[in-house]
Amino acid sequence: MSANSKRIPVLELFGPTVQGEGMVIGRKTMFVRTAGCDYRCSWCDSAFTWDGTGKDDIRMLTADEIIEKLRALGGDCFDHVTISGGNPALLPALGELIDGLRESGIRSALETQGSRWQDWFLDIDDLTLSPKPPSSGMTTDWAVLDDIVGKLQSKSRSFCLKTVVFDELDLEYATFVHLRYPGVPFYVQAGNANLRETEPARMLPYLVERYEWLIRQVMNNTELRSVHVLPQLHTWVWGNKKGV
Ligand code: SF4
Repeated sequence: MSANSKRIPVLELFGPTVQGEGMVIGRKTMFVRTAGCDYRCSWCDSAFTWDGTGKDDIRMLTADEIIEKLRALGGDCFDHVTISGGNPALLPALGELIDGLRESGIRSALETQGSRWQDWFLDIDDLTLSPKPPSSGMTTDWAVLDDIVGKLQSKSRSFCLKTVVFDELDLEYATFVHLRYPGVPFYVQAGNANLRETEPARMLPYLVERYEWLIRQVMNNTELRSVHVLPQLHTWVWGNKKGV
């Protein structure tokens, strides 16, 4: 890596743990959480990445420094790293990290709402595009998302789409996403609107109820046939705790 390696704003490095969401749910992985997001979702569980409350914790690290710190935390116990945010797709410099992980024999995963393209999307092993439903208060730019999906498909890159669902309107949105991009593996995931609860055991009945509700909605839906229905697994174990 060159002496001019670009620095990446990192808020959290942790693991090994299990991935709690999306296409690689349950996968043993390390996490790198980057700072900054172009969205302001009403139910964001990582608002500290963009609302200023985490700004003193941001470390500007090169790709090599990030991999060193991951090794210091996880030793030889991992072969998979998840890059999360915020929206990591705001950071062109992540390409160096993804290259560095691959050179070290480590698979990479990344989730983004699909509001920006980066050429390094093509090098991510497990890429999830997660457009945000109406309950987020955000508006999807379909032209941008079409462009991203089109670029990935034109290079035959595998990726998946995921939508978090809180209510009926979100489910309509999820159905629209699924039908707009047929053939792309599609995940719906129960939303967690209970972000204040600190005790996992008190939270679990709520999470189970939300997951059961989503399962019921999807089972009788003739348009949502080829879908995966997921809980947000880490909240079942750790509630809203950060850094796990
Ligand atoms: Fe939070 Fe993700 Fe929405 Fe950004 S896109 S505000 S990180 S939920």
